[in-house]
Amino acid sequence: MVWILRDSPAAVTCLPMMTLRALPALTDNYIWTLSAEDGRAIVVDPSQAGPVLAAVDAGLQPVAILLTHHHPDHIDGAAPLLERFDIPCYAPVDPRIACATHRVGEGDVFAVPELNLQFTALEVHGHTRSHVAFHAPATGGESGIVFCGDTLFSLGCGRLFEGTPTQMLASLDKLASLPADTRVCCGHEYTLSNAAFAAVVDPHNVPLHARIAQAQALRERGQPTLPATISGELACNPFLRVDTPAVRAAVERHVGKLVPERVDIFAALRQWKDGFQP
Ligand code: ZN
Ligand code: FE
Repeated sequence: MVWILRDSPAAVTCLPMMTLRALPALTDNYIWTLSAEDGRAIVVDPSQAGPVLAAVDAGLQPVAILLTHHHPDHIDGAAPLLERFDIPCYAPVDPRIACATHRVGEGDVFAVPELNLQFTALEVHGHTRSHVAFHAPATGGESGIVFCGDTLFSLGCGRLFEGTPTQMLASLDKLASLPADTRVCCGHEYTLSNAAFAAVVDPHNVPLHARIAQAQALRERGQPTLPATISGELACNPFLRVDTPAVRAAVERHVGKLVPERVDIFAALRQWKDGFQP
C-alpha cells in the first residue's frame, strides 16, 4: 500500500511511502501498523508485544501506540512495548487502560509528526462503554484509514458487552458516514464467519456474494481480508443495511412480527447473530 504525501514539505525532496500492515496475533486478532518508508510507525491495538518486536527486528520503529478499547486482546502488548519505547500511547478515557499517556474522546485531534499524519478520535461506544476509533483522512490522493477495533467488522459488528443497541447503531452510523473509500482496519479476522450469517440474512445481495468469494480466496492464500472499505461494507454488511427492505424483511421474518424502528431492527439482528450457528 502506497501513500504519497504530496502536500508535505518533505515532498519537495522525497515522497514518503506509507505502508499499512495487519500483523496476525493470538487466534484471530490483528495488530495494525502504519509505517513510513524509513520504518517509523504507529502500532494499533497490540494484543501482544511479540509480533511487534519481530517487526522491530525487521526495521519497524514504533513512534506511537493507539488503543481502541480496554479488552486484553487489544492492549496486553502495550505496557511491555512502552517499557522498551519511550513513545505516546493514545487511548480512551478508561481507568482499565492504565498504560495510556494521552486520553482521547470524541473529536479530539492529535498529530503523529513522524508520519506527517493527523488522527481524529471518534467515540464508538457499544462493544464497550469507552471504545474509540481513530480516523486519518485522505492525504495526497490516497484514501483515509479508520482503525475501528471491535466496533465494525467486515460483514459484521462487535458484540454489545457494555453498550446498548442505540449506542452501537449510532457508532456504526458514524463510521458509515466516513468517506466511501476509507480503508477499514478491524481488530479481528472475522470476515468469513460473519459471511455465513450475512448470507442467511441477505441471500440475494450480489455484492455480498462477490465479497465472500474474494475473502475465501484471500484466506486460502493465508492473507488478511482486511482492510475493508466503507463502500464495500455499505453494500454488503447487514449491520450497516438495517434500512434496506431486504434486511428489514429478513429480521421481521425471523422475529415473526413487524419491527417499525430501525434501532429495533438492529437490536434484533444483533441478537439473531448472537445465537446463530452456521
Ligand atoms: Zn473487544
Ligand atoms: Fe477483540
